[in-house]
Amino acid sequence: MPEPLIERGEVWLVGAGPGDPDLLTRKAEKLIAAASIIFYDALVGTTILDLADPGARLMPVGKRSGRHSRDQRTINELLVGAALTGGRVVRLKGGDPSIFGRSAEEIEALRARGIPVRICPGITAANAAAASAGISLTLRGQSRKLVLVTAHARAGEMLDLDWRALADPAATLAIYMGKAACRQVSDRLIAAGLPAATPAMVVENASLPDERIVRTTLALLDIAVASRITGGPALLLIGAAVNPVDLCLTDDNMRNSPMAMLSTIA
Ligand code: SAH
Repeated sequence: MPEPLIERGEVWLVGAGPGDPDLLTRKAEKLIAAASIIFYDALVGTTILDLADPGARLMPVGKRSGRHSRDQRTINELLVGAALTGGRVVRLKGGDPSIFGRSAEEIEALRARGIPVRICPGITAANAAAASAGISLTLRGQSRKLVLVTAHARAGEMLDLDWRALADPAATLAIYMGKAACRQVSDRLIAAGLPAATPAMVVENASLPDERIVRTTLALLDIAVASRITGGPALLLIGAAVNPVDLCLTDDNMRNSPMAMLSTIA
């Protein structure tokens, strides 16, 4: 008999990737199929849940904004309960579990009760957004660092971020949960010295059939979000690396590439 992938009483935090089931890892797919109970986030779609065993229990635990901390405690308790009653438990999270996924709280709660917990990584939204847009998140000699940052602020509160550090022309900023605060983000970055013309991009529903990619500049980011983005999860990308790249360069436009680039930006 092969070893079961998930022991009874064990919890796996599994990255479900950005949405497209083909962007699951093979390991995530096997873990989903092996689980007896799956607690899943709001961003995990039905095509991924369809991979579960027909006998498995599927438990939605998506959080409503504004009630995060109490809900997180409830989720921790649900995971603990499922493990202590002998479940093969999968906690399925959008993207990668270690990125803005509140995994640390779950790991701590589980370990405090002596429950083994393991992690299966996933493709994070920044990777999926860059791939869909056909860009590289780093540029040799120019965009030397990638910053993953969340711009989630509680209602009515200002974002508490180190704007001077973020306004680095050598960085690519991948901003999670930044749709609502996008105006504040661009105003503060410009005030901190990042040029208003810095390329920016909003990618909504990356990797999903209703994906939308909007190219803009830092100064126009909020207009792009307000006019083109609907209700899906969206990632903001800002920095020189976000410059539109023509993936279909022919010999002819290769020779004229500076002009071709300018016209795509305009
Ligand atoms: N752990 C996840 C992030 C959770 S925070 C990951 O690694 O991707 C939730 C935020 O992620 C959303 O508000 C949005 O900014 C981003 N996000 C998640 N899925 C996305 C998708 N398919 N397209 C664009 N952004 C996405």
